[in-house]
Amino acid sequence: MDASIFDLTGRVALVTGSSRGIGNSLAAGLATAGATIVLHGMDEDRLEKARATLAGRFGGGQVAAVAFDITDEAAVAAGIAHVEEQVGPLEILVNNAGIQHRVALTELDLADWNRVLAADLTGAFLVGREAAKRMLPRGRGKIINIGSVQAELARPTIGAYTAAKGGLRNLTRAMAAEWASRGLQINGVAPGYIHTEMTQKLVDDPDFNSWITGRTPAGRWGSVEDLAGPVRWLASDAANFVNGQTIFIDGGMTVVV
Ligand code: NDP
Repeated sequence: MDASIFDLTGRVALVTGSSRGIGNSLAAGLATAGATIVLHGMDEDRLEKARATLAGRFGGGQVAAVAFDITDEAAVAAGIAHVEEQVGPLEILVNNAGIQHRVALTELDLADWNRVLAADLTGAFLVGREAAKRMLPRGRGKIINIGSVQAELARPTIGAYTAAKGGLRNLTRAMAAEWASRGLQINGVAPGYIHTEMTQKLVDDPDFNSWITGRTPAGRWGSVEDLAGPVRWLASDAANFVNGQTIFIDGGMTVVV
């Protein structure tokens, strides 16, 4: 096997929600493999800081940035057009941006339900659709949807998120059903419990922490580095016959009771 099948040199990769968190690490992972990365978020100051940091690491020519709201149809179209005009033909899209909202279902307002569904499901449809319109005529492209173990399992207080991530898993299949024959590969990566800034409070909570380590066959939290390899693989020619799958990167959590 030729190791170059994992090489992404010169390929333009947009990672939504990469101004911070998991998306930022995934973008850095793709840049390490040679991709020209386009960072993304809504907060322009945070995005510019993230761009400057990664430009310092990989060089300014390899790191671009674009800000738009993934739930705004017109803004998505303008954002993707901007990437194609200013950076180059989009070859890799990682639909990573997402939000969480914790409240019991009986207390969940319709406005919050709609907000979570819009960010965690409709956003991937809008950005994926716009990217695919560009990729399909070129006959190549990779779309990677970032799910969650909540694509498969439920937990109290995160009903809207769970519904959205379950929907995203099936949207991944729907995209593959329509676009795989035209040269696109669309897959999902579903992270388990990942130790990030956002989950630090849960890591610091002794009860929650021991529940996670006991519930996970690998016996630990995941790290952002644990996600970068699988995403790089799915973005590369090494995964050219993988389509419609959601791969759980969860230390085995979803295979045990
Ligand atoms: P963060 O909260 O750290 O970052 C979210 C990112 O998404 C930010 O860049 C934010 O931009 C962007 N974003 C949110 N809403 C929008 C929007 N409407 N339009 C444009 N950008 C938006 O998230 P995480 O890194 O924790 O999570 C990333 C993904 O991984 C999510 O899909 C999440 O569900 C999934 N995941 C996370 C896990 C974890 O343990 N953290 C576990 C399993 C899955 P801005 O800052 O400008 O608002």
